Amino acid sequence: MQENIKLLIELQGTDSVIFRDKNFIDSMPSKLLSADQAFKEIQSLYEGGKQKVTLLEKKKKDKEKETEDINERIKKIKARASEIKTNKEYQAHLKEIEAIEKERYAIEDEILSIMEAVDAAGKELKAEEIKVKAEKDKVEAFKKQVEKEMAEAEGELSEKKARRSDIADKIDPDMYNEYMKVLKACGGLAVVEARDEICQGCNMNIPPQMFVEIKKNEEINQCPQCRRILYWKEVNE
Ligand SMILES: [Zn+2]
Repeated sequence: MQENIKLLIELQGTDSVIFRDKNFIDSMPSKLLSADQAFKEIQSLYEGGKQKVTLLEKKKKDKEKETEDINERIKKIKARASEIKTNKEYQAHLKEIEAIEKERYAIEDEILSIMEAVDAAGKELKAEEIKVKAEKDKVEAFKKQVEKEMAEAEGELSEKKARRSDIADKIDPDMYNEYMKVLKACGGLAVVEARDEICQGCNMNIPPQMFVEIKKNEEINQCPQCRRILYWKEVNE
């Protein structure tokens, strides 16, 4: 195989790794961001649940205070019993107590249902808390993994960049320029195999006479359709 073809194949291999690593590194910030967002969503559900429990507990306290006030009122009314002179007054006195007690029962019922709600919300909150913890662990593990993969990609990238400039220095400048043009025009793939008379870049047929030339791997041949540089993969290479 002609040296320039060998170099172009290696250059393409190196560039492909460089593109892959660059894409990988560029995609990481948004992946990290969406992992953080997923965590924040779960956390805000948890905070909402916490707030719900707090509000219910406050409501319960308010109702308990109301009960205390009522008890106080009943006590005061009962204290006035000694001042009662007539049966009519006594009946009115009983009625008054009865009415206030009714009020108290209603509030006590409310307290019971609030307690049930607190219980249910508390259980929900516990479940949310477990989810938050699990998600936090997951995000942290993901971040660690990303850090590791980023370091690997960055290491590989700088190694491949150095290798790339070594290769580029050895290639004929005109060929290198052509390679760069095609690379840009063809989405990062400038050198492809010609297999079964088909360009592996654009999948179009290669004219038979050209295919014969390509198989010799002596000259640079370009696909008549996509302009990619074609080579023949020799079996023993
Ligand atoms: Zn082609």
